Amino acid sequence: MNVKSFTFNPFMENTYVIHANGKGAIIDPGCYDPAEQKQLVDFIKEENLDVQMILSTHGHIDHVLGNAFVKRNFNVPLWIGEHDVETFKAVEAYAPNYGFQNYEAAKYDYLIKEGDTIEIGHEKLKVLFVPGHAPGHIAFYHKEDGFVIGGDVLFKESVGRTDMPGGDSDTLMNSIKKELYSLPNDTVVYPGHGERTTVGHEKQFNPFCRVS
Ligand SMILES: [Zn+2]
Repeated sequence: MNVKSFTFNPFMENTYVIHANGKGAIIDPGCYDPAEQKQLVDFIKEENLDVQMILSTHGHIDHVLGNAFVKRNFNVPLWIGEHDVETFKAVEAYAPNYGFQNYEAAKYDYLIKEGDTIEIGHEKLKVLFVPGHAPGHIAFYHKEDGFVIGGDVLFKESVGRTDMPGGDSDTLMNSIKKELYSLPNDTVVYPGHGERTTVGHEKQFNPFCRVS
């Protein structure tokens, strides 16, 4: 699959469009202002993509700012993790405190379970359950092409913060070791912030979660 990344909103959140054979999904649309929305729409038009769904790694504000716009614009369902509904629903109340007066909450359409397989055309994504940064955080693993869209779990030489509601450091470390570090070393990790990395690089160099 092709993986296109955008960096949106003041939190510098990575939004991904993954696609193959004209069909795609938008993961964590964080576009907030009209220029960002246009950037995303232009890409979809240029590639002539049939967008099938929005997939959400977790419900923090920076990862959901574009949900309502994308749902409306492409008329697609929003899929979120079954254990992250509360995180997702909490955004509306705190968005103005972060300066997002125009935040528009989107309704989710489907709940995703650990171990589910998401199909986009002929492509398959396996759902990994990786709580710790958010209680219902999930990641999307494409085995054939060796990549994972990981959200805010594992970053290049860093890890997701655990000081927000439902966060837990031990749980996060366990998620990384059990679910991500068990993937092949050359698996590319596309994180929710910052540049991409690989499982092998993080196992060797991540100062917060290393396996020797
Ligand atoms: Zn987050």
